[in-house]
Amino acid sequence: MKTISLFASLVLEFLFPEGCRICGSMLISGESSFYGLCHSCRDGFAVETASRCEKCGKPLISESCFCLSCRAILETKDESKTQMSYDRLISLFPYTGKWKKLLKAFKFGKSIPLGRFLSERLLEALVLLKADEGEKPVLVPVPPRPGKIRKTGWDQVESLAVLLKKNREAPPVLRCLKRLKSETQKKLNRKRRQENLRGRVFAKGNIPKICVLFDDVITTGSTMDACAKALKDSGAEKVYGICLFYD
Ligand SMILES: [Zn+2]
Ligand SMILES: [Zn+2]
Repeated sequence: MKTISLFASLVLEFLFPEGCRICGSMLISGESSFYGLCHSCRDGFAVETASRCEKCGKPLISESCFCLSCRAILETKDESKTQMSYDRLISLFPYTGKWKKLLKAFKFGKSIPLGRFLSERLLEALVLLKADEGEKPVLVPVPPRPGKIRKTGWDQVESLAVLLKKNREAPPVLRCLKRLKSETQKKLNRKRRQENLRGRVFAKGNIPKICVLFDDVITTGSTMDACAKALKDSGAEKVYGICLFYD
């Protein structure tokens, strides 16, 4: 199956050349055309297996168990800050430089090939997460803000969900969260983000025991937290998160 897809991608790239979405070099193999990235750019986006913060999942530099910002949150007495309903999180790449360029090329180019590449990195994050505790985990996309798809015709997380659903190596994908209208999160701080989202995310239908939320970028973790809380309130026992970029 994949051989056909690789060949079809190569033919498509030959007819309508787009080149590597990062460095612009010509794509001359099926694999490179399939992912929209040349071999060396793909190598540059390899997932680091370094030890990670047990809470936010960012790679650790010299700390052990928790990164400095999570340690500060876990030690604070201010309850609004300690709320993190998810059990564990893995986030893969810093949202800077070439990684930022990669997400922007995927998002603004609505690029299916880059979506394939990124959805496979999410599956690598899933392996690092070790969420498989007897029961098979189910993947749950973080829902877009209401009206986003209607307005832009596209949502990058939904696009990853579609690609993961097609991938036979991926666990099942269940769109069981719904988000109600709230203020745009971008300009708000952590506390305001949490308040803004409280009660604005709902779970519907039968909720699996082990859920793994996935998202493109994590900033304060408030969205992940609200989604995890909604899943746990509806019966999930464990909620993990995987995320491509951390800001
Ligand atoms: Zn390249
Ligand atoms: Zn952390």
